[in-house]
Amino acid sequence: MEDARGRVSLAVFRFHLRGRACCVVCADFSPVILTDLNSEQDIGANCLLAEIGPFRFLIDSGVHPKKLGVASLPRLGRLPELDFVVLTHCHLDHLGALPVVLRKQPRVEVLCSPASALVAKRILRNSVTVMLRQREEAGVRDYPLFSYEELDAVEKALRPLPLLSRRVLRGVGDAEIAVTLHPAGHVAGAVGCLLEHKHRRIFFTGDVLFHDQETVSRAEFPSAPVDTLVTETTHGAVAPLEGVSRAGETARLLELVNGVVAHGGSVLIPAFAFGRMHEMLTLLGEARRRGALAGCPVFCSGLGIDLADYFDLMTRKTGAVRFRRRVLQELGVRSLSQRFVPPGRDLPEKGIYLLSSGMLVENTPAWRVAANLLDHARNAVCFVGYCDPDSPGGRLLGCRRGDTFAFPGLDHVAHVRARVERFYFSGHAGRDELVAFARRCDPRSIVLTHGDPPARKWFEEALAEELPGARVFDPAPGVAVQV
Ligand SMILES: [Zn+2]
Ligand SMILES: [Zn+2]
Repeated sequence: MEDARGRVSLAVFRFHLRGRACCVVCADFSPVILTDLNSEQDIGANCLLAEIGPFRFLIDSGVHPKKLGVASLPRLGRLPELDFVVLTHCHLDHLGALPVVLRKQPRVEVLCSPASALVAKRILRNSVTVMLRQREEAGVRDYPLFSYEELDAVEKALRPLPLLSRRVLRGVGDAEIAVTLHPAGHVAGAVGCLLEHKHRRIFFTGDVLFHDQETVSRAEFPSAPVDTLVTETTHGAVAPLEGVSRAGETARLLELVNGVVAHGGSVLIPAFAFGRMHEMLTLLGEARRRGALAGCPVFCSGLGIDLADYFDLMTRKTGAVRFRRRVLQELGVRSLSQRFVPPGRDLPEKGIYLLSSGMLVENTPAWRVAANLLDHARNAVCFVGYCDPDSPGGRLLGCRRGDTFAFPGLDHVAHVRARVERFYFSGHAGRDELVAFARRCDPRSIVLTHGDPPARKWFEEALAEELPGARVFDPAPGVAVQV
């Protein structure tokens, strides 16, 4: 990390690069300067400014999931003129601020996977709808941060690149930088990104999973060494769970669902609308086909169902995911009844309620159905994705049977009698897998991103031990580091 004096000298060096031909040193080994524009050292609003030789670009431009209004944006105030933006995937903590960047710099191109190019506008459109609602309901005056109309410009700026194919971009004079997008597992269309300029090779993992999921194949990352690795650190504070596998978790989930349904109860599965809902639908459809799922109705809602068409399209056009819309018919999926059932009273129609949001955020379908199911012992709530401890889902996971759980706005306090269970279908790599990947990369510099402070601390210590020759950076928000 550079101190104030270091940064001044870097600024001078940059001027030297921009203004003249490269000097002798950078002709061989151009400086790389990285600035994390997320406002906190956490998972937050992913947005990394990279300066390599004469090139300036962003890796992602997301919004902070725990902040509202302009406070959710990354630090976009003093962006240099960008050569391009890389979008690693379409979760909002990576995508949600892209329209704001493009408003500032309308000519910049956004490099992404073909699957992300198909779905990005639809996700952002939903984001405008949610922001308009939050302006209305929570009085967030600076929402929406962008309009429906601005999304056409976003779609035009997207440049889908074939995966695992090296694309050379030209800059000022004869400067060149090569970009290769690598499948990152995680979610449909997710990529890591290899940048090569002169003798520099820098790899950005983005969000990554090294195991196959029901609908998305595992990451295919470079096998040759890089000099700089920028790695996500989501699970740094989570020790690997012994004996937990996706197949085992699937069997455990089906057993619980079948048991609850057999005893006349309902199961709520809160699921993220982008990806996890489609994985669950595919998994349930597969179970129903082989007779391993009870014959009950399946209820779904909202964005996740709208996105089914997009996931079907991504499957047919890009192969980035394996999802077929016909599974909705096979499962007899029904939309959620609009008939009002007072909170605390059990839902009259028994079945599986596969609803967003995954973290049981207030005023979502999953949250409203939880207010009907939680008070009754024959029901169950099955979490199948990450829940922030401060989210309603995280708080419910911390409850024991008999505890109270409040639904502000519905004027209801539930007594938790339903079974509440967590299943491990994570979309992020385990910490040991990321350290093993770092070892294979053999970098001289490693930069930590996308993790809360305890997660980063674990990586800092583990990487110092495993790769004693590498420098590990945990950049403070907005502070440039030279690697
Ligand atoms: Zn993600
Ligand atoms: Zn993320």
